[in-house]
Amino acid sequence: MFDTLPEQPADALLALIGLYRADPRPQKLDLGVGVYRDDSGVTPIMAAVKAAEKVLLETRTTKAYLGPEGDPVYTDLLKPIVFGKDPGGRVAGIQTPGGTGAVRLAADLVALARPDAKILYGAPTWPNHLQILNATRLKAVPHPYFDVKAQTVNVASLVAAIESASAGDVVLLHGCCHNPTGGELEPADWRTVLKALQETGVVPLIDFAYHGLGKGLEGDAYGVRLLTDNLDEVMVAYSCDKNFGLYRERVGALYVKARDEKAASVVMSNLAAFSRVSWSMPPDHGAAIVRTILEDPELTRIWREEIDRMGARVRGVRSALAAAGPGLKAHETQTGMFSTLALGPEQVLALRKDHAVYMAGSGRINVAGLHVRDIPAFVTALKAVGY
Ligand code: PMP
Repeated sequence: MFDTLPEQPADALLALIGLYRADPRPQKLDLGVGVYRDDSGVTPIMAAVKAAEKVLLETRTTKAYLGPEGDPVYTDLLKPIVFGKDPGGRVAGIQTPGGTGAVRLAADLVALARPDAKILYGAPTWPNHLQILNATRLKAVPHPYFDVKAQTVNVASLVAAIESASAGDVVLLHGCCHNPTGGELEPADWRTVLKALQETGVVPLIDFAYHGLGKGLEGDAYGVRLLTDNLDEVMVAYSCDKNFGLYRERVGALYVKARDEKAASVVMSNLAAFSRVSWSMPPDHGAAIVRTILEDPELTRIWREEIDRMGARVRGVRSALAAAGPGLKAHETQTGMFSTLALGPEQVLALRKDHAVYMAGSGRINVAGLHVRDIPAFVTALKAVGY
């Protein structure tokens, strides 16, 4: 039976965790895996999350099954955080296992509705985007989104890609905090993208995985809200795994705006059906934490303060990095945890071997893995490998 299977490549980034752990050098820097770290290098459980877990421990009376759509109170409470208001009955929402589950359901939905649709994506992107699109057999069409050498976003090529596509094709956009480049669409760029979408009928699938870690909860939502307010059909794949620090609990949601309430209800029935055959129903604990926080104004206030502090720390490290050398200036205007440095594989290897600096083979760094006091040593190491 299994002789025909090809061996799948191991996840290089996860392998890096093992190498980092085994490295005895005390000055070692982990800029690899994409989780937020605080000033002491820890990925903390947020105080609002701890408090919500306590409430759940004391008040939950059952763990009986929910349905394939998860907890609708969770998806409803999250809506004003995502959209800035109640977006109304045209927006269907379903709980998913993480942002990954949301992207997967969106791809399943498109593949069923429009099996021949092209999915435009900007390169480079989160590698799992391509794996998910391949798994659903959708035709993924790249355009150059980010010039790593120049550290600039290529808005013109994004718009050209949309203009060359047809109504019913899909463009995959990052809502904020682009992974892996940090290259952000500014408000004026979002307005240009909106115009191209209105002219062509191309539908956006917005992956919104790092809400709050860039320009804050309001600033980061500009594009998502502009497009949802002004287009008839939009998909938003949301993750609470980063902005609530719930990574392993797998907390996400997919929101789909359809032409009218009836169409939204048909979309919802399809999403529930996909959920049922994929994971039957999403895991509850993480979503219950988010629900408990958002139901309680005081816990919500604490959470908002915490996510604001996290975003501020990332911006602080970015400013310090940008000030550390002329070649690093762009890191200040980039947003979120990631940047991609123009480094070849040998340079990345030399950084690890000779300087104990760990990063993805692509040159992607997790800015949150840096402490401001590490920056001089980091910049010295970069210079030593010819950056
Ligand atoms: N989209 C992007 C761009 C991501 O970087 C990630 C996480 N690496 C996800 C989605 C999925 O996040 P989650 O852990 O919630 O599945």
